[in-house]
Amino acid sequence: MRIVRTIDELRGALEPRRREGARIGLVPTMGYFHEGHLSLMRRAREASDVVVVSLFVNPTQFNDPADLEAYPRDETRDAAMAQSAGVDLLFAPGASEMYRHDATTSVVVGGVSERLEGESRGPGHFRGVATVVAKLLNIVQPGIAYFGQKDAQQALVIRRMVRDLDFPVRIEICPTLREPDGLAMSSRNVRLSATARAQALALKHGLDAAAAAIARGERDASKVEQRGREEMKMFRVEPEYFAVVSAEALVPLRTLSGEVLLAVAAKVGGVRLIDNQLVDVP
Ligand code: AMP
Repeated sequence: MRIVRTIDELRGALEPRRREGARIGLVPTMGYFHEGHLSLMRRAREASDVVVVSLFVNPTQFNDPADLEAYPRDETRDAAMAQSAGVDLLFAPGASEMYRHDATTSVVVGGVSERLEGESRGPGHFRGVATVVAKLLNIVQPGIAYFGQKDAQQALVIRRMVRDLDFPVRIEICPTLREPDGLAMSSRNVRLSATARAQALALKHGLDAAAAAIARGERDASKVEQRGREEMKMFRVEPEYFAVVSAEALVPLRTLSGEVLLAVAAKVGGVRLIDNQLVDVP
């Protein structure tokens, strides 16, 4: 595996492979790898001839400077893990390589970006995400790019951007990997104290309780949401949002039918966590 720092170097490494018709797979990440990241890399390894992983803690998508500052980083550890997953190129640029000081262009994806995380974190969050992913797709020009269902809204925002702006790439969404007790894997989990780690199960338990209510026949969205919030109270966790929305457009629902997404965000011991679950409502 080769670590590259500049756009020119990465393009230079990819060019000969592209000319010989190699299939290029891209996994965009912010690093501090866990099994969730590795599952995306392994999936890319299966389907591509060249696997590129980007490692860039993108400052423009952080609405909270303290969150950016506290975001865990360990490039040496990440490089070893990426290598073990069969990655060919680890693209780890500095911020000045990714953003010229006088850059004035950004990508705004309407609609699907405006609710849930967009409301909670503000419009700058998905503008930052869409812009950096657009840049990565242009730099690498992969045939397939891999994203996790863990960040369900992010995946939908990227799909929409790719569709609306005709990026020649397929977006593949991979399942959420969890700890044995159900907590969704996240780079942020290492910041949880022992108490907060126990409380963090509130998200998964809230989702499970809401899904169980649907399975028992509840179709009133507000009652399903209430059931999820109640369950989270047992862990003394108050969600930023707990919502049942349509799975594609993420619009709020009154009566549930078809594919719905249960989505939750909460700060636990000062660490912001998200999780979600897709439910097929008969
Ligand atoms: P991040 O480094 O957190 O920006 O995540 C990079 C990619 O890994 C994103 O597409 C995430 O959705 C995905 N990802 C993060 N956590 C998980 C997980 N627990 N399971 C599967 N994919 C994940």
